[in-house]
Amino acid sequence: MYYVSTRDKLQKTTASGAIAYGLAPDGGLYTPEAIPSLAGNALDTLKGMTYPQRAVYVMSAYLDGYSASELAGFSAKAYNREKFDDPQIAPIRQVDEDTFALELWHGPTCAFKDMALQMLPHLLTAALRKEGEKKTAYILVATSGDTGKGALEGFRDVAGTRIQVFYPKDGVSPIQELQMNTQEGENVSVWAVEGNFDHAQSGVKYLFSDKRFGEELARKGVFLSSANSINWGRVLPQIVYYVSAYCDMMNMGKIEKGEKLNVCVPTGNFGDILAAYYAKRMGVPLGRLICASNSNCVLTDFFATGVYDRNRPFYKTTSPSMDILISSNLERLLHAYTYGDTSQVKGYMDQLAETGRYQILGNVRRNMERDFAAAYCDDAGVMRCIAATWEEKKYLIDPHTAVAMDVLNQYRKSTGDHTPALVVSTASPFKFCPAVLEALGSQCSTQGLESIVQLEKRTGLQAPAPLTNLVGKPVRFQNVIGKDDMASAVRAMLE
Ligand SMILES: *Cc1c(COP(=O)(O)O)cnc(C)c1O
Repeated sequence: MYYVSTRDKLQKTTASGAIAYGLAPDGGLYTPEAIPSLAGNALDTLKGMTYPQRAVYVMSAYLDGYSASELAGFSAKAYNREKFDDPQIAPIRQVDEDTFALELWHGPTCAFKDMALQMLPHLLTAALRKEGEKKTAYILVATSGDTGKGALEGFRDVAGTRIQVFYPKDGVSPIQELQMNTQEGENVSVWAVEGNFDHAQSGVKYLFSDKRFGEELARKGVFLSSANSINWGRVLPQIVYYVSAYCDMMNMGKIEKGEKLNVCVPTGNFGDILAAYYAKRMGVPLGRLICASNSNCVLTDFFATGVYDRNRPFYKTTSPSMDILISSNLERLLHAYTYGDTSQVKGYMDQLAETGRYQILGNVRRNMERDFAAAYCDDAGVMRCIAATWEEKKYLIDPHTAVAMDVLNQYRKSTGDHTPALVVSTASPFKFCPAVLEALGSQCSTQGLESIVQLEKRTGLQAPAPLTNLVGKPVRFQNVIGKDDMASAVRAMLE
């Protein structure tokens, strides 16, 4: 199977090419030429498998050129009991009669980014070998918190790679900052950038586009590579947990094979929910895909009106990983809905770049309305939802998950559709203690690690070990630089 650029189907590459180089030369996203279908009895087979085995089964369908035994090795290294504190890796918790939470935060950084970032380094280093690439892959990451730590954990001490993370000095939570600055590993470095996330992000994008800088790095034996969700190697491992969740729901006796299961996903860059769409297209009987946004509701408006318009105020919310106005992976959905008419997608993306806005045509919109629903939840709604879910269901959720839980409730009220639904739970509540404590009506006296203890006392629950273990860990990185000094920071690491 080949991968094509979303903006020009003549730009083709192999699976390893797509993963090794991330973005197509024309700026499009590499996307499978066709979406593979699961065989008729596949769910019966998958049902009896462990999570790592399911990952091999699903990923094999997309990765020509990777052998099953190779993938089995990666899967065993990515999804095991040393890295994940739950034997099921991605367990499901029943919240009420027809609501289920798919907990994707049992990995080393307590957010769902681990599900893909534990796998990506293996896929990427294998891709470099297959492509005959001799240079070291230098992973540059701009992060608003979760991706940075996830990528650091995934790439630490992975041969043939180095990783450098830039985060906005005042744009991440104290716990996220400490998680990054205490990172272990010989090939990692972490830098705070003065300014907000957009500054860090544009700085990284600029370095990627700077040809002379690229040539300078090539002379030093490295090339820049990306760990963010425009890389197919990050979307693919996310398809696995939707397939796996459907199997677990059958095993739990909550649905019969073939019965519909709705999915509600807290969405930022559109990577997570896009993976649900691919799982559905592969033949997993998923029903409505419900796209949940916070006050940065550019996607809610898009699904309602067919107009994508990023010209709007940007809000900082209690769900920072969803504070985003350009949802990059939406481009892959447009590719699917235009049936490979890549010139149409290119047209939309050109308009977005020039005017910050585009409007989709009738057939694309009709397809979208068949598969998706969308709504948003503001910070006040998040607070109410965390409190109600704790008080009424005895289930503690973080602000991102609360956005989805609230949006699912809105969807059910407005449509009367009470199909069993999976709420994708993307972070441990202990990653966002101050907001969660406030929702539960407790005064939070501190932003730092003490807030973890306070939330444990308030709820009687135990925080995940990767967070409590931060106490007393030596801080390795304290670099703060201006936003124009990022190239020098890369050079400093290559001395
Ligand atoms: C990244 C992230 C999201 C958004 O996921 P996308 O794939 O960008 O849509 C939601 N919740 C948490 C906790 C995240 O870290």
